[in-house]
Amino acid sequence: MTPDIPHLPCDDILAALRPGDDLVERMAALLRSAAGRTVLTTSFGLEDQVLTHAAAAAMALPEFTGAARRIELATLDTGRLFAETLDVWAATERRYGLRVASLSPDTAEVESLVAAQGVEGFRESVDARRACCGVRKVAPLRRALAGASLWITGLRADQSEAREATPFATWDEPLGVVKAAPLADWSRDDVARYAAQNRVPLNVLHARGFLSIGCAPCTRAVAPGEPERAGRWWWEDEGRKECGLHRRPAHAAPMPEALVPVTTAAQAFVPEATSWA
Ligand code: SF4
Repeated sequence: MTPDIPHLPCDDILAALRPGDDLVERMAALLRSAAGRTVLTTSFGLEDQVLTHAAAAAMALPEFTGAARRIELATLDTGRLFAETLDVWAATERRYGLRVASLSPDTAEVESLVAAQGVEGFRESVDARRACCGVRKVAPLRRALAGASLWITGLRADQSEAREATPFATWDEPLGVVKAAPLADWSRDDVARYAAQNRVPLNVLHARGFLSIGCAPCTRAVAPGEPERAGRWWWEDEGRKECGLHRRPAHAAPMPEALVPVTTAAQAFVPEATSWA
């Protein structure tokens, strides 16, 4: 039975992300259809960088120039990020003239966590790892999205088995926000090509085999032929490797048949890192 949800503009979002539109138009359409605050969360990885580029371009369109409606950028500064991630964060702010809001974990919670499990206790069990992600990621995400009506993410359907049903739009019940994935039908090659064509600043770690980049102690480079997200929490079972930010949707606007992505080799295109002055 469909849950009784008070405000669920998933259909609007699905229509906004129709096939054929380019990414800037998709972002502009999201801005038009959002009922309130719109937040793009970024970890400065390939997909998020491409979305940031398109968001900046959309907000520069005449209809949005000077408008109160903006796409806000937010990142979860877990305290365990790579130095290279901080570099691309700074490069992104310079390139687009935007400020990325930084959400940090609660100091007392981090201190309690580390006191209880040790500085690398997250390797001991899935529960311990989820506890760390809960403090360093999930709680700050809740603050980032408090009062927002639309959350834009860089999820793609072909990133992993767990994400193969990623819809363009879904209602995230616990967070009380519509969650959009404008890249849901893009392959990694599509995203990398867009980044190269538009000289999007990228994390230099991508060129060193880090296809998916998160916290430093929980991310490694992948070997040729390994799945795209094999370098995340590599000591855990493949099927359990989500950090709690992305849950299975309670209610989703499914991807139309015509947009179901063709599976591509996840590593077919490792982008060259781009440096920016
Ligand atoms: S990715 Fe690793 S270090 Fe980062 S919050 Fe999760 S368990 Fe902690």
